[in-house]
Amino acid sequence: MLAISADINNMRFCPILDIVRKIRESTDPVIDLSVGVPNFPPAQHIIDAADSAVRNHGLGYGPSQGEDELLTAYLKYLDSLGVRGYSKNNLAVGLGAKHLLFCVLRAISQPGGKLLIPTPCWPTYFDIASLVGLDVLKVPCTMEQQFKLSAKVLEENLSDQVTAIILNSPCNPTGAVYTKSELMEIAQVIRKSKVWVILDDVYQKFFHDGSDGENFLAIAPDLIDRVVKIDSVSKSFGMPGWRVGILAAEPRLALAVTKLNSNSVSNVPPITSAAAASAFAGDQAFCNIARVRYQENKIALISELKHESRLRIFNPSGAFYLLVDVSALFGLSFGGRIIDDDPTFCSLLLEHHGVAVVPGSYFEADGYIRISYSSTLENVLAGARRLVEFTSALN
Ligand code: PLP
Repeated sequence: MLAISADINNMRFCPILDIVRKIRESTDPVIDLSVGVPNFPPAQHIIDAADSAVRNHGLGYGPSQGEDELLTAYLKYLDSLGVRGYSKNNLAVGLGAKHLLFCVLRAISQPGGKLLIPTPCWPTYFDIASLVGLDVLKVPCTMEQQFKLSAKVLEENLSDQVTAIILNSPCNPTGAVYTKSELMEIAQVIRKSKVWVILDDVYQKFFHDGSDGENFLAIAPDLIDRVVKIDSVSKSFGMPGWRVGILAAEPRLALAVTKLNSNSVSNVPPITSAAAASAFAGDQAFCNIARVRYQENKIALISELKHESRLRIFNPSGAFYLLVDVSALFGLSFGGRIIDDDPTFCSLLLEHHGVAVVPGSYFEADGYIRISYSSTLENVLAGARRLVEFTSALN
């Protein structure tokens, strides 16, 4: 048999997309509270921008760095967040944040280098790190620590081997959000080191308090050359399938990503690019409507789950995920099958009560499950009721 590269051959399929695949293949109706789809359509001005690009654009290749209109729109967006000091040569686009993370980590990867990741976290960080030859340094953050990396723990874990750290606020899967003082303390530690700080800001529009959140760059503008801010239209603007992401970084790194684009995907499609420009520069009231709805869903979900006192719930401050500790139910059984870990809990819940949620162990949160509440209120409530029914049936 002809060879496939060992690292790719041994690579797992993206675990979350694997759940999506299974749900799509399932013939029974499922209440899907698993995936992180924003579940609202982009605003009309965004659709119109895409439509107009189809009509007016030559539909040829676009620039590998990104369409000028998109770069301009993103600078305007950064300015609205209080992030200043960037110009177009700091920017580069990609096919979503996932692709940009791949490009950035590929560009900064050094032999023996490590990527410091506070966990629980989005699992794709691990797979990308391994693909680009970076070792992963997982730093567990517990519920008691609000699932956040403190400056003290960061300092204890930094070394010359650490090439970069990732901060994801609001976080998937915890919904944890860093406060201004926490970021200021982290910045103080970063100043004493030589690491890149990668801000995965894909949930930027979903700080539950309705603010734009505390921005590391606005708090520590002196660190601008070390920071890589990654945004995408997927979650914030309800456009996950449109595949547009954009980053701001030191010009050499933005250029490295542009060169990677030029030798791989060439460019982000001009049509989705025009739509993304309209999203970043246009009226964003529709995202706020979604945010308010998520908050209502969250409150309803938590109050429903409180009927089961053995669940330990972390109240999130952003994004649209709820991380729930189900470990108090371990040792109990359903239909003769003992639940001894979170994947078994999730499989039984799906098979017997038709509710899909994601095992916490996918995110380095063993003993937990992640419930996405971006669906309709009706679905979220129905899913929560079935989950409580399921737990009551355990013996
Ligand atoms: N970062 C985090 C934390 C995510 O949860 C996701 C998607 O679920 C991504 C990045 C990927 O975003 P995109 O669709 O822009 O590639």
